[in-house]
Amino acid sequence: VIDAKLRNRVKVLYIAGQGRSGSTILGDTLGQMEGFTHVGELLEVWGILKAGRVRCGCGVPVPVCGMWKEVLNEAYGGLDESLISRMLEFRNLDACDRACLRDMISGERTLRRRLAKPLAEIERLYRAIQKVFNCEVIVESSKHPMYAYLLKLIDGIDTYVLHLNRDPRASAYSFLRKHVKDGNLIWATERSPLNASLMWNYKNSVIEVLSRRFGHRPLHLRYEDFVADPRKSLQGILRFADVNRSSLPLHDHRSLNLEAQHSVSGNPSRFVTGKVELREDQSWKTGMKTRDKILVTAATWPLRVKYGYTAIPHVWRDAPEQSPPGASEVGEIVQQ
Ligand SMILES: [Zn+2]
Repeated sequence: VIDAKLRNRVKVLYIAGQGRSGSTILGDTLGQMEGFTHVGELLEVWGILKAGRVRCGCGVPVPVCGMWKEVLNEAYGGLDESLISRMLEFRNLDACDRACLRDMISGERTLRRRLAKPLAEIERLYRAIQKVFNCEVIVESSKHPMYAYLLKLIDGIDTYVLHLNRDPRASAYSFLRKHVKDGNLIWATERSPLNASLMWNYKNSVIEVLSRRFGHRPLHLRYEDFVADPRKSLQGILRFADVNRSSLPLHDHRSLNLEAQHSVSGNPSRFVTGKVELREDQSWKTGMKTRDKILVTAATWPLRVKYGYTAIPHVWRDAPEQSPPGASEVGEIVQQ
């Protein structure tokens, strides 16, 4: 009986951390492995289902994607306005809110009771994904640390938290950039360098605090290490998630073939398919203003040093006057 129960648990590999840290390309790379599916930022699915405009990684709007229709049918017998409203409330009030963090630290039992209903709805969603996508591991890149640990409160889900980090200056620089295609703005959540630094501190601190609270060591991975040696990083992730795979989706050192994933939200790079090469996006080193570099470097101490991001003297050179804030649409990867 115990064996059957264990087999029925859903394995979720949850990427937690600050935005603009390469979680989309990491998730998409993992999604190419046999038995893995990358669903993108699943926490945003409720808002997307309500608004109806955001495209699934397969290219069509999420509400009309055949796979997601099947998932919602399997989980809830179809779409229901009141369910969407309740889950949106959960997403806004509990999954990312500071009050919830306090409850999680002080009274896990109260939290379990208070959130029993939405957590049960979420378990149904993951079970349906596992069944419809016929996968062993669901890769989730919502990144909100609190939500990762709310998943840990669900008995039917085995959550493996992958703590993804990136140099806070690179992430802050990315928050200053707009993604433009054919003259149209397709992706922008602008944050000031100070705001991005505080957010970087907050998200990483929450992961540190909750890992201790739950006695769980997340796997720490730096984006820079992943793109420098994807093979080693993927092998580490497989060991961490207790999954055996004899082959990795890499052609050689750093290139792979990306097939479309049914990801509901994330960096526009999720629409890139075909042969790509993983490469570190270092544009912040030449493109970021010196005063922004200094501000972010100071504001993210001491966690920045803990994660191995030291002050690098050669980056203090100021950006050329005409340095454009625009960026390539795919960000961290090079299409071949
Ligand atoms: Zn789709």
